[in-house]
Amino acid sequence: MSLDCQPLRHSSRRRVTTSAWPFAVSYFAALLLVFLLAFLSAFFSAIASPHARAEPLHPAFVDAATVVPGLEVEMRYAGAHNFVGAKVTGYEQPVCLLTREAAAALAKAQIALASSGTGLKVFDCYRPVRAVAHFVRWSRDLKDTAAKGEFYPDLDKRDLFRDGYISSRSGHSRGSTVDLTLVDILPGSDGKLHERDMGTPFDFFSPFSSPSDKRVNEEARSNRRLLADAMRKSGFVPYDKEWWHFTLAHEPFPQTYFDFVVK
Ligand SMILES: [Zn+2]
Repeated sequence: MSLDCQPLRHSSRRRVTTSAWPFAVSYFAALLLVFLLAFLSAFFSAIASPHARAEPLHPAFVDAATVVPGLEVEMRYAGAHNFVGAKVTGYEQPVCLLTREAAAALAKAQIALASSGTGLKVFDCYRPVRAVAHFVRWSRDLKDTAAKGEFYPDLDKRDLFRDGYISSRSGHSRGSTVDLTLVDILPGSDGKLHERDMGTPFDFFSPFSSPSDKRVNEEARSNRRLLADAMRKSGFVPYDKEWWHFTLAHEPFPQTYFDFVVK
């Protein structure tokens, strides 16, 4: 019995060894070809387009609303309710795009805030370079003061650039900076999630918007502290001129200013 079986085992082993090598070689050759084609395609599309990063949704970015549970999104520059008084270039959809790292950190803040009965509402996230250029163009048009009453009533428009409220580059274009406020976690009798009192509205160009300003009421100061503490503990750094503005401390693209459209 065992003698009969031996030659069989031997021949079957030999069949495997002789047929596996060509298969493995052709498999790896095909794999190599796929990688080569992918590399060449990426290379030629990069040199063919002046905006190599102008993808509809950059692979390093994510729609924050898909990562942060219950995130309220009111993208002000995708509509006309902002200091420009018009929809801003580069915002084709009201979507909060952030780097994956910033969105994950924001989710931590959202979860931490739940115990205080509050949640987060974002006003701006990733901001394309072309949107910042729109702000600069707008700041030079001194006759266009359509939104002055709501956003900069006490400032001369010609001083917005000098005073640092408008600048030629924004950290938002690096994808890990967010503008946001607190909302009640439960809706009011009108079914809406109400914003907490922060002393000044979002994008109110005034010293009163400084998080440490002592002239705003105690409730607003307490809400500013609550927001800043949750953001700081989740890895963000606050900005000393605007209570709503936070940047991820260890941002993944500290030197890159992206210009793909928000959509
Ligand atoms: Zn900001």
